Amino acid sequence: MKELTLEANAKVNFTLDVLGKLPNGYHTVRMVMQAVSLHDDVTVQLDGSGKISLRCSLPYLPSDQSNLAWRAAEAFYAAAGIPNPGTAIVIHKRIPVAAGLAGGSTDAAAVLRALDTLHGTGLGDEALCKIGLRLGADIPFCLLGGTMLAEGIGEQLTRLPACPEAWAVLIKPPFSVSTAAIYAAVDAHQPTARPDTDGMLRALACGDLSGICQRLYNVMEAVTGARHRQIGEIRGRLLDCGALGAVMSGSGPTTYGLFAGREQAESALEALRPDYPEIFLCKIL
Ligand code: ATP
Repeated sequence: MKELTLEANAKVNFTLDVLGKLPNGYHTVRMVMQAVSLHDDVTVQLDGSGKISLRCSLPYLPSDQSNLAWRAAEAFYAAAGIPNPGTAIVIHKRIPVAAGLAGGSTDAAAVLRALDTLHGTGLGDEALCKIGLRLGADIPFCLLGGTMLAEGIGEQLTRLPACPEAWAVLIKPPFSVSTAAIYAAVDAHQPTARPDTDGMLRALACGDLSGICQRLYNVMEAVTGARHRQIGEIRGRLLDCGALGAVMSGSGPTTYGLFAGREQAESALEALRPDYPEIFLCKIL
C-alpha cells in the first residue's frame, strides 16, 4: 500500500483588495498572500478499495463529497485519466475552520500533490493548479506557497521575494463569518480605504519588515470588523503586545500580528492566551 503524508499549510493575507465583480459572481481581487507554518496533516493512501474514503479529526466536518479534499481526489482522477485504485484520505486538522486561513483549500491542494506523487503522474505545478482552480480560487496558491501577489479571481499568481524572517500570532475569535455575506457587504458599500499594494511589493522587494507591517491592510476588515467589535479589539491587543503590525486574514475572523523575533511572539502568545484560547504561534514561510 502506497501512502504519503503532507503538511498542508495555512495562508494569511498581508493585503486584500476587492476590485470588482464578474458576471459569473466571482470577485476580482488584488492581494498579497503568505504561507505560514500552521498546518493540517493530510495522509493519502492508495488502499486498493477502488473507492474514495475520508476521515477527519474534526467530527463536524463533512467526510463525503462535500469535503474539498474528497473533491480534489475525484478531480485528480478525472484530469489524469487513470482509474482510482482506492484512495483513503486522513486529515488531522489544526487550522481553524471557516476562519480566513484557506483551511479547506490547503487540504485539497495537499491531496492533489500527494496523488500526483503517489501515482508518478508528473502533472506538475501548472496542471495541478488548473485542476485545483476549478474547485476553489485559493487552491493554486496553496499548491505553490511562499509569498505571492494574487490577481484575477486569486488565481493569477506572481511569486514575490520571500518575506524577511518573521513570526505571526494568529487569533481566531469564538465566532465564524460567512465569506459570501462579507463579499455581499463589500459589494453594497464600496471600500473608501484601500491597501497600498504597490508599497507592499516595494517593501517585500527591499526585505523591509517594518514597511511590510505598516502596510498590512484588508478591505474586508472594515465589513467584518463593523459586525464584530472583537476584531478591532484583537488587533489593538496584538499591537499592545509588541506586534509590528496586525490585520484580519481573508474574510476573517482570524486576526494576526507580525513579530520580528520568536521570543516577542511567544510572550504575546502567553499574554493573550487566557483571553483567546484559539491562539497560534507560527512562522512566516
Ligand atoms: P477561505 O480563507 O478560503 O475563505 P476559510 O479558511 O475561511 O477559507 P475553510 O476552513 O476552508 O474556510 O472552511 C470553509 C467551509 O468549507 C467550512 O464550512 C467547511 O464545512 C467546508 N470544508 C470542506 N472541506 C473542508 C476541509 N477539508 N477543511 C475545512 N473545511 C472544509
